[in-house]
Amino acid sequence: MAELRIFSGIQPTGRKHLGNYIGAIRQYVEGQDRGEAIYCIVDLHAITVDYEPAELRERVHDTTAILLAAGLDPDRCILMRQADVREHAELCWLLAAVTAHGDLNRMHQFKEKSARQRQLVSAGLFMYPVLQAADVLAYKANEVPVGEDQRQHVELMREIARRFNERFGETLVEPEHRIPGVGARIMDLQDPSSKMTTTGGSEAGTVYVLDEPDAIRRKLRSAVTDSGSEVRRGEGKEGIANLIEVLSAVRGLDPAEIEAEFEGSGYGDFKTAVGDAVVDYLAPVRGRYAELRPDEAALEETLAAGAERARSIASATLAEVRERMGVGPRA
Ligand code: ATP
Ligand code: MG
Repeated sequence: MAELRIFSGIQPTGRKHLGNYIGAIRQYVEGQDRGEAIYCIVDLHAITVDYEPAELRERVHDTTAILLAAGLDPDRCILMRQADVREHAELCWLLAAVTAHGDLNRMHQFKEKSARQRQLVSAGLFMYPVLQAADVLAYKANEVPVGEDQRQHVELMREIARRFNERFGETLVEPEHRIPGVGARIMDLQDPSSKMTTTGGSEAGTVYVLDEPDAIRRKLRSAVTDSGSEVRRGEGKEGIANLIEVLSAVRGLDPAEIEAEFEGSGYGDFKTAVGDAVVDYLAPVRGRYAELRPDEAALEETLAAGAERARSIASATLAEVRERMGVGPRA
């Protein structure tokens, strides 16, 4: 396995937002040129919070079409749905044997998401990082492109791999996270102290990849800033800093270059410029999405082909793991 292997998962929430796009999806597209890339739409993760069964498959199709529209090419990567490859769920259980309960208790995401649940805080939500570890470790991936919020989960999967190898012999690969230098944590436009998010964010503070251009411009124009007037990062300027970050990511520039360009400009002009840039950035994706989304049979075919390729890798790892753990009959 000389080549770099990349793995990342994304939730089928349908409405992916600008943070997902800049922090993760953009990196997925680049990953196709850097190594063997495997991307997974994680429907098994989506069921750990309140959800609508009748809609889940639709949302998987939405997310598949967004990823293809963004530039994932099934000839250059494996694009698959998590539940299609049963090895993920099996490995999750096996890895639970080497996962510390105390570590899971410390996960920020569990604390945040469990606090937001109205009905049930499921054991699945608690186990979420173990399933995520299984997703990655099943492919012996070297690299995991994610946003900043997933740093802790990648650290945990490294710990799980380490503990497995210590206990059962060198088998699993400890993956590295790949967190972008700019745009790893895009903040909610209405609340720049929390990340832009799919669940629990505000409609006005979240720019969706499929938003109409007018909606995007409106959301950026009404982004919360501060009472100052300088377009630069600094103490108490989280809102403006976030917009600078968005524009740098979209334009592929350093935040300092954006500050220099807008020196002397007012917030109004700056926000308009960010709005226009985001509209131009997302417009081609939205256009291709509209072409791809209606053909559900084609989307299913893509996912099925991806699952088959994924299974051939994951099943080999599972055979090794079972053998090492003494589970099931001797191979
Ligand atoms: P949820 O809040 O329900 O977990 P989410 O918005 O985090 O949803 P995911 O599908 O869980 O969406 O995340 C997909 C990828 O997007 C992950 O790699 C995650 O780190 C990244 N990501 C999520 N939010 C942001 C953000 N605000 N800025 C940058 N990257 C982000
Ligand atoms: Mg998330």
